[in-house]
Amino acid sequence: MRRPSRLADLALIVTLTAVYFVAGKLGLQVALVNASASAVWAPTGIALAALLLLGFRVWPGILLGAFLVNLTTTGGIPSSIGIAAGNALEALAGAWLVLRFANGRRAFERPRDFFKYVILAGLLSTAVSATIGVTSICLGGSAHWADFRSIWLTWWLGDLGGALIVAPPLILWASNPRPAWNRWQVLEGALLLGLIGLVGEAVFAQRLVPQLSRDPLSFLCIPFLVWTAFRFDQRLTATAALGLSGIATWGTLGGSGPFMRDDPNDSLLLLQAFMAVTVLMSLSLAAAVSESRRARQALEAQAAELARSNADLEQFAYAASHDLKEPLRAVTSFVQLLARRYKGRLDNDADEFIQYAVEGTSRMATMVDDLLEYSRAGRHHEPFQPTDSGEALTRALANLALVIKESRAVVTSEGLPRVNGDALELAIVFQNLIGNAIKFRGEEPPQVHVSALRERRRWLFSVRDNGIGIDPAHRERIFALFQRLHGRDRYPGSGIGLTICKKIVERHGGSIWASSTPGIGSTFYFTLPLAEHGGERG
Ligand code: ADP
Repeated sequence: MRRPSRLADLALIVTLTAVYFVAGKLGLQVALVNASASAVWAPTGIALAALLLLGFRVWPGILLGAFLVNLTTTGGIPSSIGIAAGNALEALAGAWLVLRFANGRRAFERPRDFFKYVILAGLLSTAVSATIGVTSICLGGSAHWADFRSIWLTWWLGDLGGALIVAPPLILWASNPRPAWNRWQVLEGALLLGLIGLVGEAVFAQRLVPQLSRDPLSFLCIPFLVWTAFRFDQRLTATAALGLSGIATWGTLGGSGPFMRDDPNDSLLLLQAFMAVTVLMSLSLAAAVSESRRARQALEAQAAELARSNADLEQFAYAASHDLKEPLRAVTSFVQLLARRYKGRLDNDADEFIQYAVEGTSRMATMVDDLLEYSRAGRHHEPFQPTDSGEALTRALANLALVIKESRAVVTSEGLPRVNGDALELAIVFQNLIGNAIKFRGEEPPQVHVSALRERRRWLFSVRDNGIGIDPAHRERIFALFQRLHGRDRYPGSGIGLTICKKIVERHGGSIWASSTPGIGSTFYFTLPLAEHGGERG
């Protein structure tokens, strides 16, 4: 990063001195318990924001500004130096603590950091200035030690208000000046600020509607700040709170509003306390809302990325298996030709090797076909429709008619419901599961029972057989690509059927698993979400 020149630094310091001076002079207009102690002290917020935004190098601007404010107010040089030192130390301590522990200028992004900000910059560092400042004026003789406590409280609360009410909007807007609001949001934001202004006026100033009420209605402002926190961000919430605080201070100084007491300083202190709590609540809410919004956006982005990479992967598997078919076909037909034409014309070894090549290519062709089928499953993402799972079963049984007849299998079913899904894909699931139930049969003719049970939020389908069963150790593995438990010579197949079932069921929002007792039989379960409107039985 380029280091700003000394001249630029000097310009910043002079500007800060001037801004601090003007804000300080304005603040001291309402110094009621002592000429140097005001219950409304924006300079604390300006100083803290300046250090956090511009860096620690501008601290002389605070010292100088504070010194000039006090010198032109009381004329006492030693006490002005003391107060200025207290103010500068407060800002340095506050900024250092916030940088170190509360995420610096990003302290308003998360509630946790904001709470730390409130404690460190709001409650703690302000005590530095109040203590040094009040000690200085007591030592200088412009206040009695007996009044130390009450002046200290005023000073501290004034600074607290500066740190909580003035610093946040400055830091937030300077860190992120361009909100990405659309036209309607700008309109809503303006409406909200206008409403907050009106309510603030009606509650605290009562000039427009003088006789609205004498009741303590300050709480009426809170819903509007909550609204801002929920619908917008920390920036607008902090701005609204600052505006409200301005109107409320103006109204209270003018002698109206719910915090009016006999002593105007007491009124201001009460108001400061109210505003500090209000800001604490609304800014922490805004931070929590924006934190959850960020989390949701990150999650959505992740989901989109996942969907994209999944689609890429599917596309890759499809393209690879599709494009492999052509050269594989050429190899297959030529080794078959070799086998036919040259059988017995070469030596025995050659015949054997060629036979291996023929078998290998035909196995590979099956695998490529299976892969293609797997990557095709769910490729044409048709929207799911109410589908009769009983009809899907009928379609599967029709495709399996020959195997069923040959094996003398008995397939029964009950209670198959209407579900939301893709009829063709559901038929593929049934066909694979029933096909396996028949293929992995035991001594007895296969008996397969297909049923469905309605649970709270889903249908639980089961396909039960009386086959050879599955060793519990392999119950998960069988759903993975090309995983089989038996040699191809005993049971033909390539180990893709269950992988396809899993893909289809999961695409439908369900899950699939198996339970089995080896030697007795297996049951494959899969779930499907209830169709909208309950999903009646078909
Ligand atoms: P394939 O049937 O082509 O071998 P699958 O993916 O359909 O591939 O099944 C994977 C493995 O799971 C099978 O090889 C078999 O070992 C086991 N299996 C699947 N269904 C059953 C069943 N009903 N009974 C016993 N074993 C089964």
